[in-house]
This record gives sequence, structure tokens and C-alpha cells, in this order.
Amino acid sequence: MSLSHHPPLSEPRGHLLQFYKADEPALTASVGQYLAEAFKRREPLLVIATRRHRRSFKRRLKTLSPSTELNALEVPVVFLDAQETLDRIMIEGRLEWERFEDVVGCLIRQLSSSAGAPVCAYGEMVGLLWNSGQKAAAIRLEAFWNRILEQTGCTLFCGYPIDIFDPEFQSAEVHDILCAHTHVISGGEPRELEAAVHRAFEEVAGPGARPQIAALPSNGNGSHPRLPAAEASLFLLRKTLPEHAGQILSQARQHYQTERRFRALVENSFDAISLMDRHGNLLYATRSVSKVLGYDPAPLVGSNVFKLIHPDDLRRLSKTFRQTLATPGLPVHAELRVKNRSGQWTWIESTTANLLDQPDIGAIVSNFRDITARKTAEQKRRRQAEKLARFNAELEEFTYAVAHDLKEPLRSVSVFTELLMQRTQPDAEARELAEFIVDGVHRMSALLDDLLSFTSLKAHVKLRRLDLGRAAQQAIRNLDTIIRESSAVVEVGPLPQVEGHSNHLMQIFQNLIANAIKYRSNQPPQIQIVAEPAGRECVIKVKDNGIGVPGEFRDHIFGLFKRLHGREIPGTGIGLAICKKIVEGMGGRIWVESDAGQGSAFCFTVTPIKS
Ligand code: ADP
Repeated sequence: MSLSHHPPLSEPRGHLLQFYKADEPALTASVGQYLAEAFKRREPLLVIATRRHRRSFKRRLKTLSPSTELNALEVPVVFLDAQETLDRIMIEGRLEWERFEDVVGCLIRQLSSSAGAPVCAYGEMVGLLWNSGQKAAAIRLEAFWNRILEQTGCTLFCGYPIDIFDPEFQSAEVHDILCAHTHVISGGEPRELEAAVHRAFEEVAGPGARPQIAALPSNGNGSHPRLPAAEASLFLLRKTLPEHAGQILSQARQHYQTERRFRALVENSFDAISLMDRHGNLLYATRSVSKVLGYDPAPLVGSNVFKLIHPDDLRRLSKTFRQTLATPGLPVHAELRVKNRSGQWTWIESTTANLLDQPDIGAIVSNFRDITARKTAEQKRRRQAEKLARFNAELEEFTYAVAHDLKEPLRSVSVFTELLMQRTQPDAEARELAEFIVDGVHRMSALLDDLLSFTSLKAHVKLRRLDLGRAAQQAIRNLDTIIRESSAVVEVGPLPQVEGHSNHLMQIFQNLIANAIKYRSNQPPQIQIVAEPAGRECVIKVKDNGIGVPGEFRDHIFGLFKRLHGREIPGTGIGLAICKKIVEGMGGRIWVESDAGQGSAFCFTVTPIKS
């Protein structure tokens, strides 16, 4: 709330008054500002208030000067309880000047002389007296205060729990209170109060009443200070329109409360809300703009939002504006960077709607909220994923190079060991050792071959439409010898068409069928390859009647070099890792279902394409 329509508050003997019962937050706002201004002028503060008001004034003072630690101020700030102070200045229910002078007067003089400046006081002992029906006592106490104000040059702000929409407001006692003060602060948001009062006047007395109201001398009989417009109209209601007074009051109250409720809703919304013209000039911004961007909303009005946007997001904002203008009433979403009060960029998510055609709004409305934390986390995750992908690519290149280069010396070891055996006359023990060497070389060579196939799998190969059944048949043909040797039976059910790489898909089937044979039980291997639809996907299952996979190892076996067996069953632990890499490269998943001793079903998902 602005106090700017009042004479400077530092004026000696300024004795202010606010009737706050119709809008209590308005009291907190104006007293908070009154105290904060005095504080900036380094005047000592004295607040005599109820506990609840003291708490909200302190809070308000802190938001106006956040750096201020109330206890650590150079200028003295004293908060007293209104009821306790009132009890101290009354004897047997009567106000005593001497007691007032002792308790309040002395304190004011003391504070003034220690700070070298007049005291700025707020008091509501008068409000307590008024509330308990001791109206004459309240007016007497005002007279005491006026003597102190005159003697010390201090300023006083009085809060009265009087409802300006209540007939009590037009009473003779209120007239006396007004006469004891120099300024009256509006008891609510001045423009909204005025609008509510005017609307009620027009509704009840008809538009003809307007000139009559406008012509009223707002200071009544001239013996009390100038009243704000809404208060003036209501105060003189009994005189001007006595027959309509009751109805006007009740309707004005209703209008003002509805307006207040709506304002509170908008101001306290988690999102900041702003209104703009079609060029992006700000017409209005809610208080929550300060929560999101740190700006005070009032000075922001009139500025152009394009000036606050990150240069890289200007095109996006222009596009958002074009889209908003082209689609009246429809929400348009955007994520943009806006310069905040401390000069940093705040990421906001905004929803904009073109309500230019709506007579009550006539603007582009934008709701926005701070998403900097989410954006920063997203950027961090993206950077980490890129780093990891780069690192993996380098690692694979390195692994490929090492596996490739190791094959040559390995072949030499094998060849020269065999030559050595032929050219010398080794005894049986030496021959056995040589066989170990050659066997080791063969295993290592197989490992390097598998490693080469794993690292040479490229994630971004060109995909073709192909028949999974053909890939399975190709794998069966490649495994012809071991299938025959093991008397395995392989049945292939109808399989779908997919987008993929024929060699890769063949390799999956080849590894899974070969494993089904390798890890067989004492029964001849029975292998079934089937497809089961699962929503938009299809699960391909390679089922066997082999030794099965124990539950705790079902994830483990898909890792590189992970095996559950020793030399008794040869292998490198790379086959399933290759299958996983291919399946995931196509956007699918792979897993094993198995009950101990009941065989296994290796399953992977594919997305079939309709033929
Ligand atoms: P390798 O067969 O060379 O050891 P894989 O990566 O193909 O490597 O398999 C990893 C491990 O998973 C195997 O060592 C084995 O223990 C287990 N495994 C794979 N397929 C089967 C299967 N069909 N039945 C039982 N165990 C299996």
C-alpha cells in the first residue's frame, strides 16, 4: 500500500490513523511501511501493539529491509504489549496523565535523546479501549498522546479496530477520533475501496447519485483531517442518503471483500502472473513476481518483457507471442531464460493466453514459475550422459585395438610351440606342457574373437525390414554340426517382421541356441523359438530344457565376462553381453526366466512391423 497521497510522515506532530477492521492486512502493510521509512531516516521506533500485530509488523519490517536484524540495530526499536502498557497507565479503570507521562512520555524522551532524533511510534491502546466500549477513554488517551507529540515532536500512528462498512463508522465518537488526528490512512486498497463504494452507491441509489457523491466536501464539517475518498463517502452516508445507508454499506462491503479475496488468490498463487499488451509491454504483475525473479512488481510495469529475455531465447519468445496472438483463448507453453534482479538467468516455464478480446482483461496473460533447478539438473544429466557415451566409445575403440593387436603374437606363440615340438625330441611331460600352452592360446584366441565381435557392434547401423524367422533359420544352419552332434531338436514358431540388422539378429539366435545346447542337462536338447505378443511389442522366447539359471544370477549373466562355470564348459562370458547390446540398441529389453533344473527361457522384446 502506498502512503504517498499523505503529507510527509516526518512532519512534526504527525498523528496518523487507520480504521483497519474491514481489511487487517492493509494495516500490516501501512504500519510496516511507516516503520520502515522511519527506520531509514534512523528514527527510534516504539511499537505498542497486541502480540499478533507485533509479530506481523516485525515480519513486514524484515521483508522491507531483509538485511536488518531487529535486535542489532544502531537505532533503538522497542516493542511493548498494548494491554500491559494500558494496565500500567490506568488506576482503578481511569487513565492518569502522570502515569502516562511516567510510562510512555519518559520512554519517548529517553529514546529520542539516545538516538538524537524524534521517535516514530505506533499505538493501539486506544484500539483496545475502543473495543471494550470505553470510547470516551480512547478519546482522552488521544489527547494525552497529542500533548506528548507536541512536546517531543514525535510521530504516532494509531490503529482502530473500526469497520468502515459498519454504521458505527458514522458515529459522533468516530468524528471525535478524526478530530484528534492529522492524517487518515485508507483502511484498504484505496482504488478498490473507492470502486466498491461507487458500485454500491450506483446499485442502490442509481447512477443519479453519483454527482451528488462527487460533490461532497470530503472533510465533512472541516474540523477533522481530509479523509480518503471511500471513507469520506461512507462517513457522510447518514447525512447524504440516510434511507439507503444500510444497503449501501452492506453491498460495498460485499464488493470489497470479493475483490480482496480475488486479489489474495492472485497475489498468493504459486505462479507469478503478468498482463501484457500485444507488444510485450507489461501492464500488471503480481507480487509473486518478486518470488520468482526478485523484482518489485510496481516499477516493472511499463517495461518490455523482450528486454529481460536471454538473447538465445528471443526467437522462441517471438514465436510464443505469434502463436498466442494467432490462437486467442488457447494456452501456449514455453520455457525461457529471464534476467532476474541479481542479473542472473532464471529458467521459467510460462503459459501464455491471448485474452485481448475479453473486455474485463484486454491483455495477454502469462503465468510463469521458476524451473531453474529442474533445468540445471537436466543439463547436468545430459552433460554426464554425453561424457559417458564419449568415454564408452573411446573404451570400445581401445578394446578393439588391443584385441586385434593381441591376435598376432598369440598366433606366433601357438605356431612356435608346435614347431618346437616337431624339431626337438620332447619327453611326455614337455609334450603335455606344450599342449597346455596351445590350449591356452586357443581359449585366449576365442576370447579375443568374441571381444572383437562385441566391440565392433555399432549402435547406429542402418536398420532394414527383415523376417526374424529367416534370421533364426540362418543361425540354425550355422550351428548345424553341434546340433547334429548333440541330437538337439530346434523348433521355430511363426516370428514377426522387424526393423533390424540381419547379422545382428542372426547372432542373437546363434548365441542363444548355442548356449541352450552347451548348457544342456542329461537329456537331448529341446529348443523352441516362439513369439508372444505384448501390447505394441512382441516377446521372443528361446526356451530350452537345460540346466537352468539360478535366480540370483539372472541379471549377472548378461554382464561382460560373467560366467557361472569353469573350464568344464568352455566359454568366454561374452555371448549374452553381445545379445544385450544388440537388443538394447534396437530399443528392446532382454532377460531370462528359469526354474532350477527346469530349463530356461531367454526372452527379448522387439517391435513388430505390420506387413
Ligand atoms: P559363455 O557361454 O561363453 O560362458 P554367455 O555370455 O553366453 O557366455 O553366458 C554367460 C553365462 O550364462 C554362462 O556362462 C552360463 O552360466 C549362463 N547361461 C547362458 N545360457 C544358458 C542356458 N541356456 N542355460 C543355462 N545357463 C546359461
